[in-house]
Amino acid sequence: MTELAGYLQTRNIDQLKGVGPALAQRLQRLGIHNIQDLLFLLPRHYEDRTRITPMGGLMPGMSVVCEGEVRLADIANGRRRALLVRLHDGTGSLTLRYFHFRMAQKDNYPAGLRIRVYGEVRAGPAGPEMVHPESLPITEDLSSSDELSLTPVYPLVEGLTQRRLRELITRALPLLDDADALIDRLPAQHTLGWRLHDALRLVHAPPPQTNRDLLRQGLHPAQQRLAFEELVAHQLGMLQRRRQQRRINAPAITSANDLSQRFLAELSFDLTAAQQRVLSEIVADMSKPQAMLRLLQGDVGAGKTVVAALSACPALAAGWQVAIMAPTEILAEQHYQRFSSWLEPLGIKIGWLSGRLTTAQRRPVLAGLANGDVQLVIGTHALFQEAVNYQRLGLVIIDEQHRFGVEQRLALTRKGQAAGIQPHQLIMTATPIPRTLAMSAYGDLDTSIIDELPPGRQPIQTVILSSQRRDELIQRIRAHVSTGQQVYWVCTLIDESEQIQAQAAQVACELLQTSLPEITIGLVHGQLKSSEKADMMAAFAAGQISVLVATTVIEVGVDVPNASLMVIENPERLGLSQLHQLRGRVGRGALASFCVLLYQSPTSQQARQRLQIMRDSQDGFVIAEHDLQIRGPGEVLGTRQTGDISFKIADLLRDHELLDDARALAMHLMQDPKASGDYLITRWLLKQGDYTQV
Ligand code: ADP
Ligand code: MG
Repeated sequence: MTELAGYLQTRNIDQLKGVGPALAQRLQRLGIHNIQDLLFLLPRHYEDRTRITPMGGLMPGMSVVCEGEVRLADIANGRRRALLVRLHDGTGSLTLRYFHFRMAQKDNYPAGLRIRVYGEVRAGPAGPEMVHPESLPITEDLSSSDELSLTPVYPLVEGLTQRRLRELITRALPLLDDADALIDRLPAQHTLGWRLHDALRLVHAPPPQTNRDLLRQGLHPAQQRLAFEELVAHQLGMLQRRRQQRRINAPAITSANDLSQRFLAELSFDLTAAQQRVLSEIVADMSKPQAMLRLLQGDVGAGKTVVAALSACPALAAGWQVAIMAPTEILAEQHYQRFSSWLEPLGIKIGWLSGRLTTAQRRPVLAGLANGDVQLVIGTHALFQEAVNYQRLGLVIIDEQHRFGVEQRLALTRKGQAAGIQPHQLIMTATPIPRTLAMSAYGDLDTSIIDELPPGRQPIQTVILSSQRRDELIQRIRAHVSTGQQVYWVCTLIDESEQIQAQAAQVACELLQTSLPEITIGLVHGQLKSSEKADMMAAFAAGQISVLVATTVIEVGVDVPNASLMVIENPERLGLSQLHQLRGRVGRGALASFCVLLYQSPTSQQARQRLQIMRDSQDGFVIAEHDLQIRGPGEVLGTRQTGDISFKIADLLRDHELLDDARALAMHLMQDPKASGDYLITRWLLKQGDYTQV
């Protein structure tokens, strides 16, 4: 009987020889339901087991294969009971240490037995040792899968050893001899000459002659062919999500309204051409009866906030509620003040919700949102908590999106869902996102880019200074403040707790105060109450404080145009995009602005080079590109986001050149009714979250 092409995707995992009900259940919990799923569990990397290392040359930290003869096996009753097996190979010795063992296991190691082990070497009391290494007696017929080879290492899965996984996969590989086992429809120009079946075989069991360097770097054509297919699947998932989004009804909000006119008339500046362009894109989107899902990108200081406010106007004028979500209390607070000053004079009722409000303080806001009295609400993630109900939510604006995960974004829009209507969504990013990353993390969104700064901005002059010259710097601050301008002093300590950060800022503040007794110095950090933070920020904005010492809590969004000097202590601790974001707090007005990167000397060559990128460029897109190269997607987008773009084999940095073609093919698959790409989604994506539900 001939079977349908791709039948392994319907063949339950328990149909693989040796997989009983218990193991099948365990595998299913890991998302491996059928044999195709197992074959698409791809190695993360390879261990080089092609060479045997003499024991005489072992150093702690090495991961190596050794071969030797058992000298003795004994149970040691030390601090922790362990089975110790002493091996020697003529050049030296190696101890194997097993903490978990059965008594009888000792008999598996008779003196004179030759065994091969693989593991990480550490320094033990009697020379090098390995804890729980993989080991294998050497008999006449070492089975072929255990030959010295490049050994795949699979993603860690609970309750299954690498060895067990390798066995299972080795057992499944012969099924690939049948060309119909999996659907293989990738057009020939993208396969690099590798059929799917062969590519899978190679990555799971690279033959000895495989080019090791390519394989280790993920650049072997078989790997690249799979990576390409995965990127296609990923793009396809996003395009489908986007199509789905387009099917959701949303309020069609007409653009003609006098609220926008009155707002513009009151505004103290004219919009830049770029702001006008993105605004018209947004307004056009919202006038359609399908939910907008648009990403607004713009460099720091490009003026995204006013665009957000003007996007809200048509919705408000048409009687819809608008919710604006910011990632931090400080930023939400500042938005609240800014939107209030802009829109309250025009008769809009604005509410404020933060996690730190008391129940009594929340009650009127919640009531106002439920009955429609509150037209625009600003807050942190408190906005989508359970007790919050909207009467008629028409638009959701999310600022500094990189701080939120897709989940939180969805939670807020679900709030607004009523009778088949979903609010429009505008998502703003804090820092520019490199194109490859934007395509992968936000490929389901339409994009608008503000590619122009408001006129009259002076470039920020950036100086790299050793902390040994702190005294000079303090004199410079004195001179700066004497002209009536203000200063930020930012203390960075990323990996430490907020409490330790707060202490460090406190110390810095006291030091500055001692050196500059005549100057008013303020302090903000994450440990303050939100009202205290707000008071301090307000005092700084009003010019009552000349120098503001802060932790990175001021990183996003804060806007005080009269602050024209920023000192960043230990800038080497932060990523470039984060530094750029921080630096963007100055240079917001017409004043010439400065940023001093006060590094702790001595510092590495590499750290200096990174800081030089900051000195030499002020283009957020350029800086973000560098950041991506140096730190990778996880750091640039924030961990929340990377959860949404984890790949089995593709690597955005390494494979970015494949993206355009992958996108094009995905579009083609979407448009061609005959060319269903569903099998790609099933194979590559489904286990990471059901895309059709998003
Ligand atoms: P970001 O894009 O980083 O969020 P903001 O929206 O905070 O930037 O804007 C930065 C500053 O630029 C604010 O003080 C804002 O009032 C001002 N601004 C925005 N647009 C213009 C413009 N077209 N002309 C002059 N100043 C502007
Ligand atoms: Mg902003």
